[in-house]
Amino acid sequence: MHSGSILLSPLEDDSLAVATSAGAGLRDSYGRTITDLRVSVTDRCNYRCVYCRTGNDGAQYAELPIADYLRMIRLFVGLGIEKVRLTGGEPLLRAGLLDLVRATAAMRTVSGAPLDVALTTNGHLLAELAQPLKDAGLSRITVSMDAVDPETFAAITRVPRSYERVVAGIRAAGAAGLGPVKVNAVLLRGFNDSQIEAFAEFSRREGVIVRFIEWMPLEEASADGTGRNWTREAVVTLDEIVSRLNAYRPLVELPPNARSETARRYTFDDGVGEIGIIAPVSRPFCGHCSRIRLTSDGKIRTCLFSQTDHDLAGKMIRGESDAELRNYILSVVDRKEARHDIGQPGFEKPSRSMVHIGG
Ligand code: SAM
Repeated sequence: MHSGSILLSPLEDDSLAVATSAGAGLRDSYGRTITDLRVSVTDRCNYRCVYCRTGNDGAQYAELPIADYLRMIRLFVGLGIEKVRLTGGEPLLRAGLLDLVRATAAMRTVSGAPLDVALTTNGHLLAELAQPLKDAGLSRITVSMDAVDPETFAAITRVPRSYERVVAGIRAAGAAGLGPVKVNAVLLRGFNDSQIEAFAEFSRREGVIVRFIEWMPLEEASADGTGRNWTREAVVTLDEIVSRLNAYRPLVELPPNARSETARRYTFDDGVGEIGIIAPVSRPFCGHCSRIRLTSDGKIRTCLFSQTDHDLAGKMIRGESDAELRNYILSVVDRKEARHDIGQPGFEKPSRSMVHIGG
């Protein structure tokens, strides 16, 4: 466990700072190593998924110039980050995204390995962008898709003919060499939970990894009934998903790819298809969380459920040096929360909803 106050040279000496921090890695006060940075590059989104955005207010937070994200990413990578995931809002809406991917993919981790650069998208604009993203150096892609039938999908996204576009995007990503594509689905009871078996078929047919995610209380509050407000009863849990899939076809559990892996992994008895289940509500995995987030306006969030954010961009804009910013990052990481308290008495919804944090 580091103290959060590793002393870096006040000089702008990158090699010294990287060497100093390399020994310690980026560790929080609970001894968790932080290797995974998620960067939201826009607060805008072209979908209004019923469980996420009401869409009534549009973007609520600023976007920064691409150069600012790059400076922040470089600082984090110098401190031990090994994976960067670009997200939003909807990242494919962001002008300059390809430049950002290209420059990020050219970075090296502290140990000199290539950085793992991934992206999470709703896939609406992916058919045209998959190959350019691959050419810019993107390693992996995750597409969010909450139904495998066009009507249910359009009812969730509230955008007509969205399903066809997203499926075309998934196929283009596979063809561009960004596979195996991960397809993330958030299940809402009574809305799209009838799709579990059809998703299994989709995984087997399309050669993609389908990952079901338990719905978390991170939606934009919907006072006017245009969206859905979170309830415990609406969450379709891991146990339920496993039992439904087993009835469809026997599941075989797969080992995790890494200790910090959030998904439990399964295939079927014939080895065809892969399913992941991410269960932050019924099986929290905070004890081995390796993540930290940057919002589109350059605030650090140490947990999806943080009540506060930490203004890294403000410090940059006020002219702080790289060494000062690195020390600030270390002190913020040190304050990462032990866990979220979903379902516990006293749970408070975070100060931003998912789309405004960066999922
Ligand atoms: N627009 C991109 C997309 O659709 O993937 C990136 C941002 S979106 C907020 C990232 C992911 O968060 C999506 O997979 C979405 O389904 C998921 N998400 C949004 N609200 C959620 C919630 N309350 N609980 C669980 N996942 C949520």
